[in-house]
Amino acid sequence: METAAPAAVIVAIDGPSGTGKSSTSKAVAAQLGLSYLDTGAQYRAITWWMVNNGIDLTDPSAVAAVAGKAEIISGTDPAAPTITVDGTDVAGPIRTSEVTSKVSAVSAVPEVRARITELQRSIAASAATAGKGIVVEGRDIGTTVLPDADLKVFLTASPEARAARRSGELKGADVKATQEALIKRDAADSSRKTSPLAKAGDAVEVDTTDLTLQQVIECVVTLVEEKRISQ
Ligand code: C5P
Repeated sequence: METAAPAAVIVAIDGPSGTGKSSTSKAVAAQLGLSYLDTGAQYRAITWWMVNNGIDLTDPSAVAAVAGKAEIISGTDPAAPTITVDGTDVAGPIRTSEVTSKVSAVSAVPEVRARITELQRSIAASAATAGKGIVVEGRDIGTTVLPDADLKVFLTASPEARAARRSGELKGADVKATQEALIKRDAADSSRKTSPLAKAGDAVEVDTTDLTLQQVIECVVTLVEEKRISQ
């Protein structure tokens, strides 16, 4: 059920993989009548384009040279988010293990981040101008993309819980292998030089290890509503 939301509230939800960011962000946006932006899908989309065009991903200058080439369009309805590259629907192809294993290398390139960050800011600005507000999920939203967001949430969970959730989503994938891949990707995302995965100083940290998805959603909805009252 949709409840009243603060006008044009901007919510940043960051955290590592498998903490429930996407499910939480979509549900909070739907419940509060806000738009929703999955920034990981944008990094996956540009990675998909680079793989498809035979770009050498081990060469950051080759990646940087084509960072502006693909036209990436994100649909921001939380009930049916979409992503296209040059007009092609890539919602499925961006979730393959090949893209997942390569996205951290592409997203570490500063020219890629500058390009995608600009896109993200313009989508958030349009939502604000339309008086709608938006939930933006990612790794560096509270620290870099939208440092003035009205509410910043940083989701965490134990590595075991994150791997178990991800392998559940991947329909029975090996939990141990999934955990190793997650740890590797988070290490790459946290250690890169340009806007690494990090908790903003003013973010509220929510440890989701022992919470159900519904409890996490309720917690974040309450945080948004508390913000509205204090504004
Ligand atoms: O959230 P998801 O797992 O789809 O993100 C895929 C990848 O995109 C991350 O591992 C990270 O390399 C990159 N990413 C990023 N900054 C964001 C969101 C995602 O670097 N704001």
